Order: sequence, then structure tokens, then C-alpha cells
Amino acid sequence: MSDFSGLTRRRFLVTAGVSAAASVALKGCMGNPPEPTSNTGTSASPNAPAASPVTAADAPEVTTIKLGYIPIVESAPLIIAKEKGFFDKYGMTGVEVSKQANWASARDNVTIGSAGGGIDGGQWQMPMPHLISEGVITNGKKVPMYVLAQLVTQGNGIAVSGIHDGKGLKLDLSGAADYIKNFQSTNGRKFKAAHTFPHVNQDFWIRYWFAAGGVNPGTDIDLLAVPSAETVQGMRNGTMDAFSTGDPWPYRIVADKIGFMAALTEEIWPFHPEEYLAVRADWVDANPKATKALLKAVMEAQQWCDKPENRAELVQIVSARNYFNVPVAILTPPYEGKYTMGDGKAAINDFNAGPLYWKDPRGTVSYPYKSHDLWFLTESVRWGFPLGDMKDFDAIQKVIDKVNREDLWREAATEAGFSDIPTETSRGVETFFDGIKFDPKNPQGYLDSQKIKKA
Ligand code: CA
Repeated sequence: MSDFSGLTRRRFLVTAGVSAAASVALKGCMGNPPEPTSNTGTSASPNAPAASPVTAADAPEVTTIKLGYIPIVESAPLIIAKEKGFFDKYGMTGVEVSKQANWASARDNVTIGSAGGGIDGGQWQMPMPHLISEGVITNGKKVPMYVLAQLVTQGNGIAVSGIHDGKGLKLDLSGAADYIKNFQSTNGRKFKAAHTFPHVNQDFWIRYWFAAGGVNPGTDIDLLAVPSAETVQGMRNGTMDAFSTGDPWPYRIVADKIGFMAALTEEIWPFHPEEYLAVRADWVDANPKATKALLKAVMEAQQWCDKPENRAELVQIVSARNYFNVPVAILTPPYEGKYTMGDGKAAINDFNAGPLYWKDPRGTVSYPYKSHDLWFLTESVRWGFPLGDMKDFDAIQKVIDKVNREDLWREAATEAGFSDIPTETSRGVETFFDGIKFDPKNPQGYLDSQKIKKA
């Protein structure tokens, strides 16, 4: 690995700085399959899906939308829907997928909307759509958004710097809790961990992991938002200790001998909700047919992504310079469910351990369960994160009922004739690796069962 690690590192530092404009300018190069030239179903492209099901009655009100994405595995359904012609198939012939520099840019861009040069929606960590809707992370400006689908489960993990090899930093962290808590007395600084944006998924995953092991992420360590490239550089030079991150970073950190994987999120919470498709409510309300067309296309892309025989082509498409700009060799193992963990841990080799987009052994991945929105917001209460007017669980449930449009998902899936449509808005009781259970009917009981928390 050492001979190509320098190259990959340089490439990935460059990737972090790629602008949305550059991504547009570069579109279509790097060996992507030819895009379908027509949505009539008679396209000459061998990659075009079969006949378009769009009738005059369900023709979309508009054929364009601008969707933001972050170049990590979570965004694959949006890129595949674009590149494999699924948006075209459902009449959304002018969808633009726009690379966002980071989560803060995505938030700022959706706040101004595509009319102002921003985006209409796209890929989000949770509960960003709820926080944006309530003005919590937008300086009080409420921009109502709708959650339309879950994009992916799993594909994230906790990476640790190689300076901690052999110290017992693994899924069950309890054996290393004293080492982490005493780190300051022996090193002159606290154990330092990073995520890329506060109060959303990757912050939650690493907090859960620390707290389950007896380390208080609010007081025993420093935990902060740091850009990925800076975090990885810090892990390399010994100033950053842990990183809550998503594929392809975990593989890359191990391949480049920067550190090891302490845990994958699929070990912390098997088949957990990860990132979501959400769009501004004003766009959806004005364009209900286009919304369902968009959803059908994303759902069909998710089904395509989950076929093992399509994964090599998926990697070819998303690895391209205009998308992830990551070598095929780095992306292939996680897409096959293969993770080299490092630090003496057995490698993981299980297709169901990698990112899954449409179905997993618990059922649907794509359907946005309200019970999962509730977990993210309950976890926000646990850590005392700002929630604006969501002052109790009744208020939280009201916001979920407003923001989560599982009804639109259900309608779109039914119209498209897809199977695997859930009958409940709750996935039921969730069990974490440490035995803690989250019963969506009793979020307070979950909070009470957690020993380490702020609230
Ligand atoms: Ca993620």
C-alpha cells in the first residue's frame, strides 16, 4: 500500500477542495457510462432503463431540481439515479446533482434555494432537515423541509490513530476507558476526537461509542467538528486521536497506515438509519408529481445499487473525478462488505456489513421511519443539543409529523409497483451493541436507561 498511499492522500486533499462549479464542469468524464439520451424508452443507450412509465396524468410539473450531495457512499443513489437514467425514466430529465464542499455549505445552499443559486434539497445527516425546518441551525430562519427517503444504512465507523495501537480501543471500549480518561495527565492534552459537523449522525455515533464504554464525550475528552482532511493529517502526526467518519475514509485510514478501525457503526447499531433525502417543503408542495417522480427514481437507483452484480459498475461511476474522485481500489472493499480493521482485530467480510441502500435483513432501508427521526431527536435531548422550540417529546413528535413525509414515499412506491412497503411508521424496538434498547413508544425510558448523558 505504501507505494500508492502518497498518491491517494494527495488526491483526497484535493477532493476536499473541489467546488460545486468544478464538479459541474467536470461532469461526464472519467469513463462514466453514456447517459441516456431520451426518456421515451426508445433511447439508443444500452444503459437506459426500459420503457418510461410516465403518463400524461403523472407528468411532473417541473423536470429540474438541484440536489446537493457530499462525496461519500451515502450519496450513491442520487448519483446512480442521474448516471443510470432513472431520473430520466420518470420524466425528471433536468436533475442536477451538485457536490457540496461540506455540510455547512449544504445547509447554507438549501436555505437560499436553487432560485438564489443554492440547492432545493439533497443528502442530509439527521436531524438536519428538522433543525433547518425549525431554524435551529440557520440563525433562526425557519426553512421548512420534508424528509422523503432514507438513502443508506451503515457504511460509517470510528477510526483511531495508530499511536493508540494495542490500547484496547475496540467496539467495547470499557477496557481502554481509564487510558482515555488519563490521557491528559500523561500527554498534556485531552484525548481528541472529531466529526465533520456537530449534532448529527457522526457526532451521535462516536458519542454513543464513548459513553457505552464509560467515557463521557462531553467532559473526559475533546470532541469537535474538524474538516476530514485536517483530521486525517492530525491522526497522522499525533495531534488527533479518533475520527467518526464514513466510507471511503475508514478503509483509507487503514490502507494508508494512519490508524485502525475501532468499530463500524454496523457493529454499534446493526442496520441503523444513516443519511436521508430531504427537499425544501415549498418545492415539494409546488411540485407533488415531480416529487414522486424523484422518489421513484431514487428508489429504483437504490434497488440497482443493492444488486451485488452492479457493485463494480457502481464503484466505476462514483469513483470518477466529477463525483468522489477516489480510486476504485479504495472504494471496492467497503462496497463488497470487506473491512480491514487493524490493531489485531479480525477483518470483516460480509456483504450485509457494508452500505445497503434498498433492503437489509430488518426490511426496508429506503422508507423513512418516523421512529428513527425520534431516535435522532431523543439522542439530541440526551446530549443537551439545541432544539429550538422542540422543548418536550410532544413538540418533537409534532415536528416529526410535519417534516417526515413517509406518506409520499408510500404513494410513490405503490404507484411504481415496488414491494417491501412497510405498514407501520415505526420499525419497533431498536437494540444497541451494549444491550440498551430504544422503544419509540417510550423515549424517556431510553434516556433514563443511559448512564452517561448531559440532559
Ligand atoms: Ca454518514
